[in-house]
Amino acid sequence: MQFASNKVRDLPAYLFSVFQQKKKQLEAKGVDVIDLGIGAPDLPTPDFICQALSEAVKDSNNHRYSTYSGSLEYRRAVASFYKNQYGVSLDPEKEVLALIGSKEGIVNLIQAVINPGDKVLIANPSYPVYETGIYLAGGKKIDLPLNKNYEPLFDNISTDDADEAKLMLLNYPNNPTTATIDVNTFHKAITLAKKHSIVITNDAAYQLVTCKDYKAPSILEVPNAKEYAIEFGSLSKSFNMSGWRIGYVAGNKDLIQSLATLKSNIDTSQFLAIQKAAQVALESNFQTVQENNRIYEKRIEKLYAALQKLGFSTQKPRGTFFLWVKVPAGYTSMGFANELLDNTGVMVTPGIAFGEKGEGYVRIALTVTLNRLDEVIRRLKLWKMNEVDEI
Ligand SMILES: *Cc1c(COP(=O)(O)O)cnc(C)c1O
Repeated sequence: MQFASNKVRDLPAYLFSVFQQKKKQLEAKGVDVIDLGIGAPDLPTPDFICQALSEAVKDSNNHRYSTYSGSLEYRRAVASFYKNQYGVSLDPEKEVLALIGSKEGIVNLIQAVINPGDKVLIANPSYPVYETGIYLAGGKKIDLPLNKNYEPLFDNISTDDADEAKLMLLNYPNNPTTATIDVNTFHKAITLAKKHSIVITNDAAYQLVTCKDYKAPSILEVPNAKEYAIEFGSLSKSFNMSGWRIGYVAGNKDLIQSLATLKSNIDTSQFLAIQKAAQVALESNFQTVQENNRIYEKRIEKLYAALQKLGFSTQKPRGTFFLWVKVPAGYTSMGFANELLDNTGVMVTPGIAFGEKGEGYVRIALTVTLNRLDEVIRRLKLWKMNEVDEI
């Protein structure tokens, strides 16, 4: 008997779970594994948000089904966020939709927009969910040309690809490469969208997770962006709410309508009390976001400096809480990640997990304390010393 459809059976292997398996085995042997592989914040959700949830839970009005698109109050909070942060006006009823985390929204949007056989432009490497989403919808992925800083080179897309592409998925600030862009790049994306009738999305999961003075732009800042584009937002990273499952999508009303129609047949939005708490988060003064960012910055500074001294090649990011590090000569990304784990108990994600062009790199998540990073650095130095001894 077949218990899985061909579609499910043939899903690409999720490399993250392979490493999690290995972590468990090592821990069972007593190894103190330091996990820099998981791309989720280690810090707790700010107290004022937890408080808002506790109160909302006690209100029985919040115990019923939400409206499919999410509560109007939550969608208004998203619209105000766009107004305050980017000067972008949105109609909360038609141009904003609540999501059960942006991952869900991205996969469902692809399904809602493309037909089987349609082409979709995505970066390589990129967040693995894009490729699976395209696969599930029967689409065909095409590599978006990138420069050495992982910024899109729209002019290098072949005319055939540009004409045939139905959808392009962008993600800035970027996971896993930490690439960031200026609003000018979004202008070019919208120009391309107009010329070749391509729907554009920006996955803005790290929009607020930025360093120093860098302010990540929104694609919706571009005049006319709403004719072609939507942007996915998430509270997972900026408010340490990855387990809460709450996000949103904003922009083109026809795209939002297609997604809302599909979703209304699949889910009934998020628990109203969680929407209420997320609303309170978005209506806050973002002080907790700034505090988190400063914590990530210190961690980045520490590991970046140590990696430089040890001879690793990496760039200091302007956004996200990752370092994208070149593996030493002679290693594959998988080989390096495995040896690092075996020899030091430090777990990182091999670049190949994000696409073939992620080969030669690993992604390091700065989701542990400064003390634990000191321990990481101590183990790296030891490993390096032993390696030199062997020569
Ligand atoms: C974490 C992450 C998401 C998913 O966020 P959720 O809102 O928790 O589903 C989406 N895109 C990227 C690039 C991410 O790293």
